[in-house]
Amino acid sequence: KSLRVNLPDRTYDIEIGSNILGNIPAFINDKGYSNRFYVIDNNVYDLHREKLEEIIAGDGFLVIGTGEENKTFSNLEKILSSMVEAGLDRKSVLVAVGGGVTGDICGLAAALFMRGISAVQVPTTLLSQVDSSVGGKTAINLSGIKNIVGAFYQPDKVFIDIDFLKTLEKKEIMSGIGEIAKYGFIVDEDYIDYLQNNLERIEKLEDEYLLEIIFKSVDFKAQIVEKDEKESSIRKILNFGHTVGHGIELMKNVDITHGEAVAAGMILEGIIAFNRGNISKEYLQEIISLCRRIYLIPDFTEYEIDIIIENTKHDKKNVGDSINMVLPVSRGAVESFDGVTIDEIKECFRSWSN
Ligand code: NAD
Ligand code: ZN
Repeated sequence: KSLRVNLPDRTYDIEIGSNILGNIPAFINDKGYSNRFYVIDNNVYDLHREKLEEIIAGDGFLVIGTGEENKTFSNLEKILSSMVEAGLDRKSVLVAVGGGVTGDICGLAAALFMRGISAVQVPTTLLSQVDSSVGGKTAINLSGIKNIVGAFYQPDKVFIDIDFLKTLEKKEIMSGIGEIAKYGFIVDEDYIDYLQNNLERIEKLEDEYLLEIIFKSVDFKAQIVEKDEKESSIRKILNFGHTVGHGIELMKNVDITHGEAVAAGMILEGIIAFNRGNISKEYLQEIISLCRRIYLIPDFTEYEIDIIIENTKHDKKNVGDSINMVLPVSRGAVESFDGVTIDEIKECFRSWSN
């Protein structure tokens, strides 16, 4: 199955299927790139070495460490210098094979190298397949702030192969489901129902359901990105769960994946919306019951809550002191609000503990 993303400067296809890696060399040949360089997630390289080496077929490649702690300037530099050493030029292509961390750094490397060369994304986690590989946001973290250095840079093509998911840890599957659930809450109530009815089949990685959920998610994301590529308006809704979520994600002593943090963020931001009288108790309960299957928020201490709020304030979406947040307004709909107060955030943690 294939989907097209239509943007003013670039149109590209997203191919979704099982066992589709063989199509990569054909695509690369058709495009006539002068040279190819692969950057591969270390775990993916270990687990899928044989089929990857078949695709790479003697081209240059670099294996990088992953996880949020590796989304760094030094990794970016390592990739860029490997690209120089590999002799890439303006007509070359960088192929990123890995999760969202690999995809985000490589997208940025491609944007920077010689002021921009082609990139192909081969996402290997559920999260990167349903979200980060589509839409052209690229970034690294710096000075404890998530995604503070980055660029909008669209790939030439995205290959989503569900076979990769078979080696993913349960926690990482649930992380992807966090972003999937978000699409329901922000744009489509029917999708909330679909997910509630089929969650177990998706958790069990049944192909038919995986393909369906990935296709729908990518379709939602592509439509939003097409309307507002640079996030000046509607694209903001994709940040539901991400403000408080990022605050938790940046906690040093909390072991949490990105999608788990988003699930936690959706619960807490849902509580803020309820406390404001924006949504009903029933709908809040629905958000909570779906998201707590993804991540169970611990009782944070007052001290930890202060750190989370401090992290939240550093979110780059904020201008000055006012905290911007995307909050639910009805089932399957959200809106962006300026001026959410620190007290409201503190209060949502208190409500959760009770
Ligand atoms: P990740 O890239 O760190 O991958 C998670 C873990 O899974 C890593 O340990 C990785 O080695 C391993 N892994 C990857 N593929 C595997 C496979 N097939 N089998 C077994 N293990 C595998 O993290 P992620 O969850 O994929 O992505 C999170 C990142 O994505 C965050 O940094 C987040 O900010 C970013 N993100 C970006 C966007 C965007 O629009 N650009 C959107 C959402 C999230
Ligand atoms: Zn996200």
